Amino acid sequence: MLEGKVALVTGASRGIGREIALTLAGYGADVIVNFNGSEDKAKRVAKEIEAMGRKTAVVQCSVADYEACGKMITDMLARFGHIDILVNNAGITKDNLMIKMSEEDFDAVIDTNLKGTFNTIKHMYRALIKQRSGRIINLSSVSGVLGNPGQANYSASKAGVIGLTKSMARELAGRNITVNAVAPGYIDTDMTQSMSNSTKEAIISQIPLKRVGQPKDIAEMVAFLASDKAAYITGQVISVDGGMAI
Ligand code: NDP
Repeated sequence: MLEGKVALVTGASRGIGREIALTLAGYGADVIVNFNGSEDKAKRVAKEIEAMGRKTAVVQCSVADYEACGKMITDMLARFGHIDILVNNAGITKDNLMIKMSEEDFDAVIDTNLKGTFNTIKHMYRALIKQRSGRIINLSSVSGVLGNPGQANYSASKAGVIGLTKSMARELAGRNITVNAVAPGYIDTDMTQSMSNSTKEAIISQIPLKRVGQPKDIAEMVAFLASDKAAYITGQVISVDGGMAI
């Protein structure tokens, strides 16, 4: 389904990003594994990709760093010749009620989740336009769609990702480039593991399908959006959340 394509997945060392990288490789893409702090885990992901017979590269870069994103993308374009699929997955939370939320924590979440998405798209823009084809898939969140108490920073960043996605979809449609967002619900990763059992149970009771999602649930949607099968879909926010946002 994705043979001959090159994908760059940000935050691919763990969780949903890891699963996206492996799933895209499973469908035939060569996959660049970006990470920030988890080098060993990123290298393990790359080994699994190689074992599937796909090309890969492991590249450290904080997506919050504009210049570093530029270097990563320039280097990877030189190495692979083209990047067809950009998955903006890297993300963080720093949850707190507004009364306790520091300016630092607000900025950190916006810088990684929203500005980080801008940083990679900005540096990919010229190459994508020249190629006259491409896919950009941004990870939003049910929190960005519905809002969530204690997540003003995160929710704002993920709602921002939706606005960025829709604007880019309109801007790039004439170049045969689609831009979509996936909005996961509650997915079983490190990001959600720190919650108490009672919080988890309360969340599950709000999920119509009555279970948490798995990274694979998200990765398959990303792979579909990256494929030719989704050629006529752009500017959409696809909720993969067990029905949370109904
Ligand atoms: P995890 O915390 O499990 O993993 C986060 C990943 O992002 C890691 O690979 C981490 O890399 C990377 N990352 C964090 N900061 C940076 C940075 N500055 N630059 C590059 N990479 C970075 O998160 P999930 O897998 O759960 O989440 C993935 C995406 O899905 C996020 O955008 C998140 O907001 C979104 N999402 C998740 C939901 C969930 O329930 N889990 C729900 C809705 C949305 P490293 O370890 O190398 O630093």
